[in-house]
Amino acid sequence: MTGFKIVSESVFNFNKHKNKGMIINELIKLLETLAAPYLQEDYDNAGLITGNAAWECSGAIISLDATEDVIKEAIEKNCNLVIAHHPIVFKGLKKITGKNYVEQTIITAIKNDIAIYAIHTNLDNVPDGVNGKIADLLGLVNRSILVPKANLLQKLAVYVPVNDKEKLLDVLFAAGAGNIGHYSECSFSAEGMGSFKAGPETNPFVGNVGQRHQDAEVKLEVIFPVWLQNQVVKAMKAVHPYEEVAYDIYTLANQYQHTGSGLAGELKEAIPETEMLKILQTIFKIPVIKHSPLTGKSIKKVAVCGGAGSFLTGAAIAAGVDMYITADIKYHEFFDAEAKLVLADIGHYESEQFTIDLLFDLLRNKFPNFAVLKTGVNTNPVHYFNRIAQ
Ligand SMILES: [Zn+2]
Repeated sequence: MTGFKIVSESVFNFNKHKNKGMIINELIKLLETLAAPYLQEDYDNAGLITGNAAWECSGAIISLDATEDVIKEAIEKNCNLVIAHHPIVFKGLKKITGKNYVEQTIITAIKNDIAIYAIHTNLDNVPDGVNGKIADLLGLVNRSILVPKANLLQKLAVYVPVNDKEKLLDVLFAAGAGNIGHYSECSFSAEGMGSFKAGPETNPFVGNVGQRHQDAEVKLEVIFPVWLQNQVVKAMKAVHPYEEVAYDIYTLANQYQHTGSGLAGELKEAIPETEMLKILQTIFKIPVIKHSPLTGKSIKKVAVCGGAGSFLTGAAIAAGVDMYITADIKYHEFFDAEAKLVLADIGHYESEQFTIDLLFDLLRNKFPNFAVLKTGVNTNPVHYFNRIAQ
């Protein structure tokens, strides 16, 4: 029954928003090329939270938080998609009666056919995501993921006739296989002999039914991130000449340098600690910065993690960082700096605020004629009282 309801609802909305020709799923697919949903943490709830990806999109509005004010703004501005960094539904909902702001927001969104899509820890875990944007603003060079993730790489070994090797490599690389660090089109191949006996129901590419056949083959090996497995295998099967393709997929324990928590990099020139704090205050528009004791050293190597990042202080120290810039650091966590670096808490919202620009630019560049807006609502729930400024 649920299936019928979804279909009829999507048809209803398809008619309601018939003007721009853009389907929500097209926008989602683009966002997911930047940050695959597979990369979200186990505790997260990124993805489509309300609405239907098959709806036609009347416009998209981007915010850090999909609060009820942002949903109302979307309604006012005729946008039926809210793209937010933080998932409004995070821990699950058992009742939706409107007794708190989360339930109220969901009710308003559903009543008004507003889709909410969240791109959260998956965007934290990629080099061009939340932290990449912060690193851009600080002008960091020589960047690397602070704590790369393991078990995200797979290896494909496929056996192919010698003459079909190049054609197969072309499609495997086009499907996203063969990237190692800053190198692309990486593969290994070795020649050998393959054998098979075609059964009675087959139509073999070479050899005869019922007879063992031996032929020169190449064993090709390429690596790829796990979330590309389906498209890599599909691409391989599409061009491989054999009816039954012989291939193996292995999960690798290697760290994947392109994915993980935090980002380290270097300033072009070392600067004094207080200078760095002033720069942070200017760029991130923060009235005050909480930080651990200054070390007296100049700042050259920096690590960043937008949002709550105290779990990476040890990794930042191990990486030889001079200043670690993050947010949501608790009292006792400031002691973890141990005079080895300066721990700077620039505020959760402040550290992630430019994520809105990041997503806006991505969508605007790809779809220049589509209505994409940045929210005009400041959703930061943290305010600073400064008596002097009053
Ligand atoms: Zn956050």
